[in-house]
Amino acid sequence: GDKLLRQAAERLTYLARQDDCVARTGGDEFVIVVGKAQGKVQLEALASNVLHSLNRCFYVDEYSIYLSASIGIACYPGDGTTVEALMQSADLAMYRAKAKGKNTHTFFTEDLTVAANDRMALETELFRAMDSAAFEVHYQPKIDIGNGAVAGCEALVRWKRADGTWIAPSVFIPLAEETGLVRRLDMFVLRKACRQQREWREQGLGNVHMSVNMSGRSIIAETFVDDVLDVLGREDMRPEHLGMEITETAFMSNMSEASRAIAALSEQGIQIYLDDFGTGYSSLYYLHTMPIASLKIDKSFIDGINAPFNASNELVKTVLTLASGLGMSTVAEGVETREQIDFLANNGCGIIQGYIFSQALSGSDFATYLKSSAASIAAVMA
Ligand code: C2E
Ligand code: CA
Ligand code: CA
Repeated sequence: GDKLLRQAAERLTYLARQDDCVARTGGDEFVIVVGKAQGKVQLEALASNVLHSLNRCFYVDEYSIYLSASIGIACYPGDGTTVEALMQSADLAMYRAKAKGKNTHTFFTEDLTVAANDRMALETELFRAMDSAAFEVHYQPKIDIGNGAVAGCEALVRWKRADGTWIAPSVFIPLAEETGLVRRLDMFVLRKACRQQREWREQGLGNVHMSVNMSGRSIIAETFVDDVLDVLGREDMRPEHLGMEITETAFMSNMSEASRAIAALSEQGIQIYLDDFGTGYSSLYYLHTMPIASLKIDKSFIDGINAPFNASNELVKTVLTLASGLGMSTVAEGVETREQIDFLANNGCGIIQGYIFSQALSGSDFATYLKSSAASIAAVMA
């Protein structure tokens, strides 16, 4: 590593001119201070020279190594009048360059600050929301097309802001994961979902199978399994009626801790679903050794069913064969067309979730749906 850094530094120094200054400011970060006032065109040329120079092969001992870089550019005085301000602007631009896909450069612009501030504001709001009643849980039915009945539901969290607008979980869940708030959020959803399951039971709607999503950070918490059992106890709910959806990525990134939690949950009778299956890096070995009850085939594959020039059909078939061979069930998510249902049914996938049957519904709307589900499912299948 040190040898590589030294060689990279040499190449950068070679590109620098007399009034420029090259510095390494940390880990793998370098700064070039361009001494003589230069226009955008010259700075762009320098950036592309830097990229070309780093892209050429490095020889370190017996290794050949290729590097890429992300470059952020800030100019005095427009983007900052102090060293700190300029560095911060360059940093923001660099993150944007990274997000664009690396090996490119980005000039600082005001909207980068706005984006960074927005994110910070959202983070603060998320912290506050945890203490208020800003989160709701909605329930999306899973349909067993074999018998035309509701097989259960998935709890999906919703965030209502103070101004009445909704923020999608795809926006705030990643933020909550970064800040660690996701543990509190997941436990909140679990409690709420189990309480709802009990309410439906008390209304005579039977034991609805309830699945909740759990982030990787939640399941590796030390007291996680005890906390879950505690919630079940409070709501007088049997573990067989609870499922947990864990993404492949969450599972693979903390394999040993996650495995322990999954084994303990499953021993208690809670079903484990591998969520977004096919989008991460599941190892077949772990599929085989972990007590996973069900694979959820990601919407991106379902979208590709019967699309022209698409390999989705084969992929979906293969996943269904794999699951059945390993004794797991399968759930297809994001099903929107009758064509997709037919393909899935013909290839052995019995549980369907998607807008074709219903979106996620509030607790009371779900109860209404349950009461007339036989008719509405039959209508879709007719
Ligand atoms: P997911 O677990 O893959 O959930 C499925 C998402 O697809 C949901 O989006 C659902 O509303 C949407 N969906 C279902 N059927 C259809 C369909 O036919 N068409 C289309 N276009 N979309 C469909 P949602 O509710 O926005 O949730 C997004 C993601 O946020 C979830 O993806 C899940 O990863 C995460 N999430 C939601 N609630 C929680 C939670 O309580 N805890 C954690 N850790 N993550 C959650
Ligand atoms: Ca899910
Ligand atoms: Ca998914």
